[in-house]
Amino acid sequence: MAQETETGTANEPRKVPKIDWNDKSYANWIHAGKSGMDFKGFDFQRDNVIRFMNRIDLNSGPLKQKIEMMIRVKVPEVDDNGEEVGPIKEYVYYTIRYEGRDSWKQKIACDLIEGRHQIIVQEQRVDWKLEDGHPIQDITTVDSTPVLKYTILFEGKKTVDAILKKHNMIERENDIRFYWKARGTYPGAGGDRCTDYSYDQFSNSEFSHLEYLARRPGGPTGKINLAKETPAYAECTCGACVKQK
Ligand SMILES: [Zn+2]
Repeated sequence: MAQETETGTANEPRKVPKIDWNDKSYANWIHAGKSGMDFKGFDFQRDNVIRFMNRIDLNSGPLKQKIEMMIRVKVPEVDDNGEEVGPIKEYVYYTIRYEGRDSWKQKIACDLIEGRHQIIVQEQRVDWKLEDGHPIQDITTVDSTPVLKYTILFEGKKTVDAILKKHNMIERENDIRFYWKARGTYPGAGGDRCTDYSYDQFSNSEFSHLEYLARRPGGPTGKINLAKETPAYAECTCGACVKQK
């Protein structure tokens, strides 16, 4: 059986690409004074990337990258301690899939989230306990509820195009799934979401227009037939729609 080594199989040193990936959840974890060994990222992407980078070999084929999803959200600005410090702003984040081959030409891939990371802060809690009827004071360190911090402000089409350009995606649509999401401050928090937007709808619409497209019969494409389940909707009141009337 082949053994995994740094040198690969063909006496050629393994050639590793340089990728600049989002490791901010881990950085925050270390910043909070926690051990890297205990890291539990909500998206587990650190483990994925490290395994991928430990295997990829450019001698076997190129590194390919593809943006899978792009999501627009509106959330309060938070600082590095997870505290809300600013007004609600519009952000975009996305998932990207890297693909390559290892030294044995096995196809390998991993997914990453860019533009969003997890903040955990450690807090001290003072407990007044009773032990054998004697009051004692105990100070323990507890983790705060994880908060999601978004880092890419949405400033219209130019933001979307800059992301595509950064990852060498020339074709604009290229099977990217464009999402609108009503909430997303906490990991796992529920909320309304919708996909099926076109590149143009996603890049050029006001946030409220994306919501209108999600709720109108037929959805963003106008083709989805869920008439019975579509909730009541009103005319769109976003700036662009009002101007058109
Ligand atoms: Zn509108």
